[in-house]
Amino acid sequence: MNPIPVLVLEDEPQIRGMLCQCLAGEGLLPHGAGSLVEARETLRAAACQLALIDLGLPDGSGQTFIRELRAWSTMPVLVLSARNQERDKIEALDTGADDYLTKPFQRGELLARVRALLRRAGSSGAQPVVEFGDVSVDFASRRVQRQGIDVHLTPIEFQLLAVMIAGQGKVLTHRHLLREVWGGAFVDSPHYLRIYVGHLRHKLESDPARPRHFITETGTGYRFVI
Ligand code: CA
Repeated sequence: MNPIPVLVLEDEPQIRGMLCQCLAGEGLLPHGAGSLVEARETLRAAACQLALIDLGLPDGSGQTFIRELRAWSTMPVLVLSARNQERDKIEALDTGADDYLTKPFQRGELLARVRALLRRAGSSGAQPVVEFGDVSVDFASRRVQRQGIDVHLTPIEFQLLAVMIAGQGKVLTHRHLLREVWGGAFVDSPHYLRIYVGHLRHKLESDPARPRHFITETGTGYRFVI
């Protein structure tokens, strides 16, 4: 099998070198780029299947690049952000990034995220029945069971669950979830989410106070973990 080409857009040569080394050690084929211009050239030359994107670049922002990329590609995007770039990070996720890593990060953390993104991109997508913990969700019949017993979800609860399962493993921002479940007019009403995620935890988590599947990403949104 040929190694998977990966775009590494990072302007700090040292960090870029470290990223490329980690990815190559994992059997991937990293293509380093230090600017938006170089990254565009790289994408023309190589059929990249994953992109690691720094937000602060010499000739523009990583968000601009993600917006361009999303016009034609669904390849997974992992954002690399500094600690003081919270707002930029959320904007990048809203623009279409799939996950983020805060610098400085550990090699193991980076590779775990990369593997998860590639795994998801390679899976065929929608499955009719999804299972997590002691819960099974049958999308064809819209039936949810816990330990084999039917659980009643309201239409909003079911829609929220479906959107979270569709984005499993990814950070799902408040705006994304509100837009997908309630519609564009509700993107500034995060309290709806708090209430409905609470409902899902109570109905589907073994210990709603210590959720294992409906995880809070403080200040950003939620992450659903199978
Ligand atoms: Ca930078």
